[in-house]
Amino acid sequence: MPSPDTSSPLLVWFRDDLRTDDNPALSAALSDGRPVIGFYLLDEVSEGVRPFGGASRWWLHHSLSALAERLTRINVPLVLRQGGALDEVPRLAREAGASGIVWNRRYEAAAIRLDAALKSTLRADGLSAESFNGALLVEPWEVATKAGAPYKVFTPFFKALVARGEPARPHACGERSGSSVPVSVPHSDELGAWNLLPCAPDWAGGLRETWTPGEDGAKARLSDFLDIRLSGYAEHRDAPGKATTSRLSPHLRFGEISPRRIWHAAAFHAETAGEPNTRTALAKFQAELGWREFSYHLLFHFPTLDRQNFQPRFDGFPWKRDAGAFAAWTRGRTGYPLVDAGLRELWHTGYMHNRVRMVAASFLVKHLLLDWREGEAWFWDTLVDADPASNPASWQWVAGSGADAAPYFRIFNPTGQGEKFDPEGHYTRKWVPELAALPNKFLFRPHEAPAEVLESAGVRLGETYPRPIVDHGKARQRALDAFETLKTAE
Ligand code: FAD
Repeated sequence: MPSPDTSSPLLVWFRDDLRTDDNPALSAALSDGRPVIGFYLLDEVSEGVRPFGGASRWWLHHSLSALAERLTRINVPLVLRQGGALDEVPRLAREAGASGIVWNRRYEAAAIRLDAALKSTLRADGLSAESFNGALLVEPWEVATKAGAPYKVFTPFFKALVARGEPARPHACGERSGSSVPVSVPHSDELGAWNLLPCAPDWAGGLRETWTPGEDGAKARLSDFLDIRLSGYAEHRDAPGKATTSRLSPHLRFGEISPRRIWHAAAFHAETAGEPNTRTALAKFQAELGWREFSYHLLFHFPTLDRQNFQPRFDGFPWKRDAGAFAAWTRGRTGYPLVDAGLRELWHTGYMHNRVRMVAASFLVKHLLLDWREGEAWFWDTLVDADPASNPASWQWVAGSGADAAPYFRIFNPTGQGEKFDPEGHYTRKWVPELAALPNKFLFRPHEAPAEVLESAGVRLGETYPRPIVDHGKARQRALDAFETLKTAE
């Protein structure tokens, strides 16, 4: 055991970086040689801070518990506090007798404001305060067009990111001998007292079955992806029944693994595999990591991304208010099997496959004409990977109101999408079991099935499974008409 060190400690403020590996703030603190105290602040009161949704709170609980355990191995205690950052961080620094504080950056406008204000306060109090990039391959301000403006289109953004050369290599620091032991550690809340886990009712059974939050869970996901799934990624990533994607998104969201670690591990794997399909898959996979970067680029340069249309012409869009249609969508009872499968997968596991997210989101916005912000908020509450940048950026992409968005007039046919991307129906049958006995021909169009087919499959439309809540053809036309109103308003 290292001997206790009486010099004043450094604080590491953990936020969206709940890991020890490739954590620049933690590395900086550990390399300093002074005792290190980690802390996490549950701040649901500072102005503009968006409170976690239910599924994220569940994840956070387990992730913090895993982080505390891991930090113990390197002699870093984790202090848990609750409250507004502007008061609580300086208070904790005083209580710890800290000489400095480090953290990895966040990119939401409210967080940036808080961090800047805190840096000034802490420095004025005589403490050192430094921040690092722990979340992104490239800082949002490091990539700009020739004119020095932010990118609004993904492809040139990603080209510019790649043209900078390989992203920085990750640094392993978690397994080092660790820092010297702090002499005293300020009071910490009990994690359980934060009530992050649901209890009455406990709806988290499906989450527990599906996920292992924490750094070890993230590493296991990455190995599993590289060993088993990466080679088929380019070909099958759009097939929800094939489980070919990495499912690293919640681990990335909470920073249990760094994008640099993933980028380089995938590149190394593809290089050593030496197969052309793995190299193609690598390019596709890295581009998806690029979409995450692009979302943060947009959020940084357009801080109201989660509230305001990126394209202001959408401000006049004639959204409908329809609580019944919204409830049917959230419960997976729209009468469109692929959409319903997605919403039920989401409710049960806190996750939805990307292709199905696109179809389900498009259905809400275009078939039901409900405001994308209603869908974004539902995803925020129910996704374990609910992300301040990727969630609103993706919703705006689907709605057509975003930067580099899908054109509004391109309207997914939820039936055709099911037939194309889940042709054997494995995914849809799993999540909509009341349709499981239907033949493939009618699985995505039960309302068109002859009575005897429905009967032999045990399906009673309107009873065991809903009829479509809107007619696809009519809904499509209604959406196109609504879009026309935008054009005439231009
Ligand atoms: P993989 O295919 O294995 O991709 C690897 C990683 O790249 C992902 O973990 C993710 O971090 C990133 N990524 C992949 N696709 C995208 C994308 N289109 N945009 C941004 N990053 C991407 N992703 C979130 O992480 N959080 C969200 O809140 C979120 N909300 C979404 C809402 C809608 C309406 C849509 C259409 C997409 C949303 N996405 C979101 C993007 C995408 O669906 C998920 O990142 C992906 O399904 C995660 O699964 P995976 O880890 O297996 O992805």
